[in-house]
Amino acid sequence: MEDCLFCRIVKGEIPSAKVYEDEFVLAFRDIAPAAPVHVLVIPKKHIESVAALTDDDTELLGKIFAAIRAVAGQEGLENGFRLVANTGKDGGQSVKHLHFHILGKKTFGENFG
Ligand code: AMP
Ligand code: ZN
Repeated sequence: MEDCLFCRIVKGEIPSAKVYEDEFVLAFRDIAPAAPVHVLVIPKKHIESVAALTDDDTELLGKIFAAIRAVAGQEGLENGFRLVANTGKDGGQSVKHLHFHILGKKTFGENFG
């Protein structure tokens, strides 16, 4: 995906503040943090959103969630964190490459806005 921002970050064409990387997954700090810790966890492979996942991605999802746990540990989020995956137009997704926001070191309420 030539014009995908996060694919370009994966390729190193656009710089990012990496916090975790393995063969399949990359995590980097959000450029406009909404909490003291705000990390985006993405698959290196281009997948548009949660809605575009298939059964073939089951193993990859396990790796993504392992990375999420690793980042939470590295960032000292033992009190918890909010995990968000904006999906599609109604979900407010602006970058069309699957990503999970980890938001931490901030106490969120029980309700959604
Ligand atoms: P979403 O609205 O869920 O699609 O989230 C996209 C996120 O990507 C937003 O929180 C942006 O601040 C973040 N973002 C956009 N460009 C960059 C970039 N170059 N590096 C890091 N984060 C970015
Ligand atoms: Zn992409």
